Amino acid sequence: MSSSGGRRPLIAANWKMHLLRADVEAFCRILGEGLGTPVAQVVLFPSHPLLSSASWAIGAHAPGVALGGQDLHPEDHGAFTGDVAGPQLRDAGCSWVLCGHSERRRDHGESDDLVGRKVAAAERAGLIPLLCIGERREERHSGKTFSVLERQLAAGLVSRPSRFAIAYEPVWAIGTGETATPEIAAETHVFLRRRLSALYGERIASQTRLVYGGSVTPVNAAELYRSAEVDGFLVGGASLDAGKFLDILGVSGSA
Ligand code: PEP
Repeated sequence: MSSSGGRRPLIAANWKMHLLRADVEAFCRILGEGLGTPVAQVVLFPSHPLLSSASWAIGAHAPGVALGGQDLHPEDHGAFTGDVAGPQLRDAGCSWVLCGHSERRRDHGESDDLVGRKVAAAERAGLIPLLCIGERREERHSGKTFSVLERQLAAGLVSRPSRFAIAYEPVWAIGTGETATPEIAAETHVFLRRRLSALYGERIASQTRLVYGGSVTPVNAAELYRSAEVDGFLVGGASLDAGKFLDILGVSGSA
């Protein structure tokens, strides 16, 4: 386990708009059989209609695994057809929520300001936001990576939530099979921890989990995890296969 500063590794599955109830039960059964007593904190992020099945399946097969929503509305209730409120996620068994995933920024026009309001709503509902930030390919190529990340981080945390974790997910690495090199992941996480220190102070910065996301597989996870700054992963595609997800968990000593 490379994570330093006493930070518990965090390994999360973002299932996006995949799977059906029977798949979720099968996944949780395999996960529970393979998991033992995990070193890492494990979180599953199913789409909203699967939350109650996932909550049941976790209780039956994989106790200790946490549940999260993939998104929430910035208001706690109201006339917002098709949206989901923080208190509803909490009521469905969630303790986490993704905020600002790049697919929501891209497909739903989520602005930095909206993401900041969602993080605040998560805190009000008693959910831990996993704030997703990351630069686009053209931003990296034009030398804007750090300014983009600095802006997204500050805007996402503008409400100064008391509990949160950060997922660094370079947009060019999500679902593309093109993973950040361990050097890119490490230097970016170092930068983010410095920015967190400027925003929150040294103590909170050193306690905050910074996970990497973007085409993580059982093959590249070990190398990425070697950096003391990488506290775990947010896994998309490879998390749909319980065996692969267990192999990634194994990198953190959890399976
Ligand atoms: C994600 O969507 O958060 C993600 C990291 O996806 P993938 O692992 O498929 O790149």
